[in-house]
Amino acid sequence: MQKIPYKIYLEESEMPKYWYNVRADMKNKPAPLLNPGTLKPMTAQELSGVFCEELVQQELDNETQQIEIPEEIREYYKMFRPSPLMRAYNLEKKLGTPAKIYYKFEGNNTSGSHKLNSAIAQAYYAKKQGLKGVTTETGAGQWGTALSMACSYFGLDCKVFMVKVSYEQKPFRREVMRTYGASVTPSPSDTTNVGRKMLEEFPGTTGSLGCAISEAVEVAVGTEGYRYVLGSVLNQVLLHQSVIGVETKTALDKFGIKPDIIIGCAGGGSNLGGLIAPFMGEKLRGEADYRIIAVEPASCPSLTRGKYVYDFCDTGMVCPLAKMYTLGNGFIPAPNHAGGLRYHGMSSVLSQLFDDGMMEARSVEQTQVFAAAEQFARTEGILPAPESAHAICAAVDEAMKCKETGEEKTIVFGLTGTGYFDMVAYEKYHNGEMSDYIPSDDDLAQGFATIPDIKL
Ligand SMILES: *Cc1c(COP(=O)(O)O)cnc(C)c1O
Repeated sequence: MQKIPYKIYLEESEMPKYWYNVRADMKNKPAPLLNPGTLKPMTAQELSGVFCEELVQQELDNETQQIEIPEEIREYYKMFRPSPLMRAYNLEKKLGTPAKIYYKFEGNNTSGSHKLNSAIAQAYYAKKQGLKGVTTETGAGQWGTALSMACSYFGLDCKVFMVKVSYEQKPFRREVMRTYGASVTPSPSDTTNVGRKMLEEFPGTTGSLGCAISEAVEVAVGTEGYRYVLGSVLNQVLLHQSVIGVETKTALDKFGIKPDIIIGCAGGGSNLGGLIAPFMGEKLRGEADYRIIAVEPASCPSLTRGKYVYDFCDTGMVCPLAKMYTLGNGFIPAPNHAGGLRYHGMSSVLSQLFDDGMMEARSVEQTQVFAAAEQFARTEGILPAPESAHAICAAVDEAMKCKETGEEKTIVFGLTGTGYFDMVAYEKYHNGEMSDYIPSDDDLAQGFATIPDIKL
């Protein structure tokens, strides 16, 4: 038996040349985006008012299984990829589990997360189309940072609407974005119609991703030479993130390792969708079977407690309708929620796969998440992002079940990023000031009430 190293690094020459499009292997395709006016599927032409043309093609392409990664993007990937697949020997020892735990670490770049995988692709296509710049929203700031890096590389202007609570709590994130040349506006802002309306209706609101999206779209559509880009949820983003899964599978195959369980945290679904893509492909084609687990915060439980219906992707209702597991576009997590993953909906691809029983979902409470994060930092040395710690938490649970049963299962999870900019949340946890808040059915009903009544 070959000894598995602590870190499996691929050679640059082994890096993926193609993204894998899981939609090609899905029998039940994800539901199309709908035009909210006509309730007809959004056409390429309609979408190209908001998104870059090539990204529109990728968004609508449910058939092509392999999509070539352009040379320029692969060159940029080489600055921070391949990312290591780590064997968590120290965590295994600490837990005393017979399980074998692996994690794919995506935090080894300045943006600190997997988001750069899609940011660089989206910036590349925007540049190729001759655009001046792009607008976007950011919650915790990782996406905005990644996009700022990508835009500065290609010489594009970058306007970021940052959820107000994060803008205030994470000034360093903001400054990283500005270092890369982006302009950062707290959302809701008085620079857009949507923002002004929001401020009027809910003075003192801490903002939401849904609202920041509306603001960014409004500016993109109203400014010549600009398009909007989104860091998660969309089919194209999951496609770009498949680079995580393809690398992971190549690394595992090299050592003849077959995972039993694959785990990822789920906000809008991009890292999970990317990590599981080639494995899900095998499962869909009947070539292999894996347990796949999405982990979400108990305070923002779209898969575990949401409805699978058409809803707006944003609060301002300027975006198309997407069929997804959703808590309602007006859902805002409780103010004490500190762990990211605060989007009200879930990728249509993952929603369909979940609805088809191809994957499981569970929710975890934030004090558990931070306990897992701390244990991980102390054993494996990496200070995880709170988002990533949702996956750690579930991986540890599964490993502890193996300890009870004596099973030597192989668990792979996505460690999406580092948590250096989340120290305010860590501080709350250390001071014992962090509480769990699980929304009541009444709380959720308020969010559900904001879902449009669509009769198809
Ligand atoms: C954005 C982010 C997530 C969640 O987004 P997904 O689209 O669900 O992957 C998870 N972890 C980190 C570190 C992030 O920055």
